[in-house]
Amino acid sequence: MTTNVLQMARDQLAIAVKYLDIDPGLHQVLNFPKRQITVHFPVVLDDGSIRVFEGYRVQHNSSRGPTKGGIRYHPDVDLDDTTALAMWMTWKCAVANIPYGGAKGSVKVDPKELSIRELEKMTRRFVTEINIILGERTDIPAPDIGTNGQVMAWIMDTFSMQQGYTVPGVVTGKPIELGGSEGRIEATGRGVVVSAEEAAKVINLNLAGARIVVQGFGNVGSIAARLIEEAGATVVAVSDALGGVYNPKGLPVSELCRRYSGRDGGVQEHKDAERVTNKEILELPCDVLIPAAISAQITGENAGKVKAKLVVEGANGPCTIEADHILSDRGVFVVPDIVANAGGVVVSYFEWVQDLQNFFWDENEVNRRLERIMKNSFATVESTMRAHKTDMRTAAYIIGVKRVADATKTRGIFP
Ligand code: NAD
Repeated sequence: MTTNVLQMARDQLAIAVKYLDIDPGLHQVLNFPKRQITVHFPVVLDDGSIRVFEGYRVQHNSSRGPTKGGIRYHPDVDLDDTTALAMWMTWKCAVANIPYGGAKGSVKVDPKELSIRELEKMTRRFVTEINIILGERTDIPAPDIGTNGQVMAWIMDTFSMQQGYTVPGVVTGKPIELGGSEGRIEATGRGVVVSAEEAAKVINLNLAGARIVVQGFGNVGSIAARLIEEAGATVVAVSDALGGVYNPKGLPVSELCRRYSGRDGGVQEHKDAERVTNKEILELPCDVLIPAAISAQITGENAGKVKAKLVVEGANGPCTIEADHILSDRGVFVVPDIVANAGGVVVSYFEWVQDLQNFFWDENEVNRRLERIMKNSFATVESTMRAHKTDMRTAAYIIGVKRVADATKTRGIFP
């Protein structure tokens, strides 16, 4: 991440505040996280040496409910990035209208450098260091970059061992057999595609036959690519951390998913296509661009070269504020991250509800409820966009910030 991501999140909040009659003191409440923990903790590695890791858990705002947000394992994370991500979670949950505030956690580590045993030990020790602020009624982690269902299972087990009974609702994104939800793995990609379908109707784009470019071929990107192809579109380019492939006639998405998703890199091994860099892929001729990798990919430098009519943000923060202005001036319709990629947290919410009730739903029910929430929040954001004559991102912030500000104000400032 770039070091100014927190400033970007604060600037986005300031833009929304201008549209709303928010007291300056309340603006400050929203501008800062409620709670930040930085921990340094040792782990004995397989060779017997001790390594000290740095990790964070940030809770931004809990006025609307327990805080919720993923845990990221990545060498470039820091406290500011984690805080920005926690803020985005607050607005995202509010826009989807689910009863959560925002949080995020991270550990500065490349998980690929660790053995499975080291990864497990590091996860269990990290959870132990931050468990004073976790809980199924207080703060509920989920997977993010570098973490997965297995890591969530270790978090659940560690927390449960310390409580003395099983607490499945303390974390979401768990394997199904431990109280995970049907449809959770696909949820973010599925929500991205529902958003793309709704946006295509607004700009009169027929998705059947539309050309799609997807940057990032992990959980979000590969599933969005597969589902948008099922909706009749043609995926012409995909990429992972090592680079991408482009074929204007279309790529065999199912085969690419089978061979490369879940692996960190490799799509360029696909032969029947031209190789492109992660910079070039954003500028390819296409109708819909889905950035689904990392933040700050579309910037003031390359936004003028984006050819897509529609950008659907699978990743968190892929467009900078400068890029937003350029895309908006050029008439490119952008579905912002806090709308487009909310499917993951929505199905995490379903998982938590099912865990608390010990009553589990089938996949059709999960997908049907997910689609309904995604469509409702898209429609609310679109009508706010029209009412305020603004763009989708500003409209989403207006809704999210207003809901959180109203909840904070109505609860009152304690004591
Ligand atoms: P992932 O780790 O499964 O996949 C990330 C993909 O991006 C991989 O293909 C990786 O090779 C690629 N990548 C990494 N660095 C890259 C670079 N510099 N350029 C291009 N590609 C690069 O992660 P994910 O869960 O798919 O998350 C992707 C994005 O979506 C992240 O921004 C994440 O915060 C966001 N997100 C994920 C979820 C979720 O439920 N998984 C929910 C909301 C938002």
